[in-house]
Amino acid sequence: MATIAPLLPVQLIRKKREGAALDDDELRAFIAGVTDGSIPDYQVAAMLMAIFFRGLDDRELATWADAMTRSGDVIDLSAVKRAKVDKHSTGGVGDKISIPLAPAVAACGVAVPMVSGRGLGHTGGTLDKLESIPGFRVDLPVERFKELVDSIGVCLIGQTARIAPADKKLYALRDVTATVESLPLIASSIMSKKLAEGIDGLVIDCKVGRGAFMKTIENARALCALMRAIGTRAGKRITCVLTDMDAPIGRTIGNALEIRESIEVLRGGGPADTRELTYVLGAEMLVLGGVAKDAAEGKAKIEKALGDGSALEVFRKVVTAQGGDPRVCDSPGSVLPRAKHRDELTLPAGCVAAIDSEALGIAALLLGAGRRTKEDAIDPAAGLVVDAYLGEVIEVGAAPQIVLHHNLSDSGRVAEARAMIENAFVIQPPGAPATPVRSSRVLEVIR
Ligand code: URA
Repeated sequence: MATIAPLLPVQLIRKKREGAALDDDELRAFIAGVTDGSIPDYQVAAMLMAIFFRGLDDRELATWADAMTRSGDVIDLSAVKRAKVDKHSTGGVGDKISIPLAPAVAACGVAVPMVSGRGLGHTGGTLDKLESIPGFRVDLPVERFKELVDSIGVCLIGQTARIAPADKKLYALRDVTATVESLPLIASSIMSKKLAEGIDGLVIDCKVGRGAFMKTIENARALCALMRAIGTRAGKRITCVLTDMDAPIGRTIGNALEIRESIEVLRGGGPADTRELTYVLGAEMLVLGGVAKDAAEGKAKIEKALGDGSALEVFRKVVTAQGGDPRVCDSPGSVLPRAKHRDELTLPAGCVAAIDSEALGIAALLLGAGRRTKEDAIDPAAGLVVDAYLGEVIEVGAAPQIVLHHNLSDSGRVAEARAMIENAFVIQPPGAPATPVRSSRVLEVIR
């Protein structure tokens, strides 16, 4: 690994602070020093702040991201003959799409090597959702990961300490130095982890809106442009799909509840928005993987795999191979953990004009479905079933729309969650003009 002379970090920080571009060798040496710990945290933090204000040009960003990717192991999937395409979501409330998507794409002939994250704050993580299936293991060794990607066409594991270790250090420092919200730092963080998976192509689901990291479409486009530039320079095919996060995805928030809903999608059912996102993202993955000539053909293939049971059969194999109880595919209700308490909540009558999905994510977290810090344990059974969608009309005297699933004895915590849920909905009184509602969650596809 490249080493750095004792005075060099301060010179590099000064150079970036003054707005000059760093050379490739300088960028690689800096990331090497971050990875092996030879550059102290205070200098790394200072560099992050300099980048926050000065940015990185295209060449610098590509080199910085490549050095981060190579700071650990890059999984070698060359033995897998099928095209290898993954999907990354920037994170949304109720975002369970990876669970039906990965088996559906594998059923259509494209391999999906998926290295996922855990939930933190108001967004959930695919690993936590999968672990709500009794026995399911996400800590498989890389060799087993490769075998399953080859034999089944999909494997879902957690990030190992050897995947992009520089990102782990940089992210921890960004978190405490107010430098998370820098587009080049976000883009390089996401792409370094994905490029280390050994993929040929990547579909990025960039969430936009109140419950998302990117609050505006302009910011989302700018982030996608940077991620595409990094991926393209690394020789990968990248498609970005901008999707709205102005409401939770589907009708469940919480780990076991979301697995149940994912299995509905794998059985050809499930909520319309969850199906739509699975079709659209899956179609783009099939195009990148070369098994569909365009998105329309890809969508038809994904719909077929979900409708004819072939995606569910792949999921059954994944669950079995990763140690989980495969009966979850046939009878999720009897296999998944269930909460002791189910409290109901009724919203006022009228039309649902807006939903603060971030607030619903936090309410689910309060019930035990999420973590505030990385060390928190989660309750797999906890969460919300939300039967009130944007544009839906709630009649006077209707059955409760929200069910809070929890195992809490602390009534104060439950009351806090209830208040957050009530405040998360804007309901227009009966008779008020209807708020226009988008019929699709897909805002833009950037190929
Ligand atoms: N997700 C990541 O992996 N990194 C970021 O910087 C932001 C979101």
